[in-house]
Amino acid sequence: MTSRNDTLFEQSQKHIPGGVNSPVRAFRSVGGTPRFFVRGEGPRVWDADGKSYLDYVGSWGPLILGHAHPDVVRAVQETAARGLSFGAPTELELEMADLLVKLVPSMEKVRLVSSGTEATMSAIRLARGFTGRSKLIKFEGCYHGHADSLLVKAGSGALTFGQPSSAGVPPEVTAHTLVLDYNDIDQVNRVFAAQGKDIACVIVEAVAGNMNLIAPKPGFLDCLRENCTKHGAVLIFDEVMTGFRVGLTSAQGLYNIQPDLTTLGKVIGGGMPVGSFGGRAEIMDKLAPLGPVYQAGTLSGNPVAVAAGLATLKAVSTPGFYEALAAKTKALVDGLAAAAKEAGVLFSAQSVGGMFGLYFAAKPPTSYAEVMACDKEAFNRFFHLMLVEGIYLAPSAFEAGFVSAAHGDADIAATIAAAQKAFAKLAP
Ligand code: PMP
Repeated sequence: MTSRNDTLFEQSQKHIPGGVNSPVRAFRSVGGTPRFFVRGEGPRVWDADGKSYLDYVGSWGPLILGHAHPDVVRAVQETAARGLSFGAPTELELEMADLLVKLVPSMEKVRLVSSGTEATMSAIRLARGFTGRSKLIKFEGCYHGHADSLLVKAGSGALTFGQPSSAGVPPEVTAHTLVLDYNDIDQVNRVFAAQGKDIACVIVEAVAGNMNLIAPKPGFLDCLRENCTKHGAVLIFDEVMTGFRVGLTSAQGLYNIQPDLTTLGKVIGGGMPVGSFGGRAEIMDKLAPLGPVYQAGTLSGNPVAVAAGLATLKAVSTPGFYEALAAKTKALVDGLAAAAKEAGVLFSAQSVGGMFGLYFAAKPPTSYAEVMACDKEAFNRFFHLMLVEGIYLAPSAFEAGFVSAAHGDADIAATIAAAQKAFAKLAP
């Protein structure tokens, strides 16, 4: 029997490339038909066939309060009723900037944009404009959005589809992009020793979440900070995913490192399109209209989007919010690992705050090479077995997962019970 999801997917492919507006949504790497969602509430989503799922994607991270949180929906409705966009300053933007600066102390000044891609692209331009240098360092498997200079050996969908470096990006454009190995301290030291005076910036996911999840090794982030300081390069923490996801002070607070610039997205929009970049005032003041680095946006600081973000940030600022979220996420990964062990399936899992990684490998990977060595086919089978059980995981072995505050203990228990069934089928 053809399902409504199948029908919609077939129709979508006629006028939308691959039937989707962002590649990983197409289920290409796991196979099968993507689910078309019609509704979300708390931890659950409902597809076009009326089947419900516990959602561990959360729109790829933004929905830290779960779907359709009443405070967020109310903020959107009330703000929308007063006008959708002005293309002029609003008091909401001021409130958002003040709140971000208060919560993320390394950000002395911030600018709002409409996506993570815009945030990282602008931060790179700013770092280059500030230093007058061209070279940038990124790490293999880290994804920083789809700006040309950053689409080199990237993670997320680029990695999922075996095209970590995109066609359509001329080699001259990426000639200044140096790609190093995540967590390789010696390599970073060597490259800085040889080329330090030409390096404008280092951009890094402080916790890598676009090649599954890889935590920074002790000393790795410190080594970036030290080299950037010593050689006059700008350290950019791309916290589009980790910002307000791993804790209220984000990854920089968790690991106690001050970057020069930070990029944010996802949670700060609460499900609406908001991104941000910010950092040291001395650098930020190089932006137009004060300085020579151009950056702009018709819908930047959009009031409706910012209202959703503000409502979200207010909710996550409640004392104990992240302790509860981290404990729940840890209970999930511990439960999944125990279930796999009982079934005799080679599997491991870990969490950082409200994000997690699942690995068909004996222990969590610490490098890109180790991620690539995980059993991708086993993940694909697990993904579909869980989907049947009503658990919606990211449809790729190269993505982190997300728990929301709306996931209750019973939801976590139901997820582990579903995994017990799935692992039993995967058992050797
Ligand atoms: N940086 C990181 C770390 C991300 O995870 C993402 C998106 N997954 C981006 C940048 C790009 O953000 P967007 O998709 O909003 O452009």
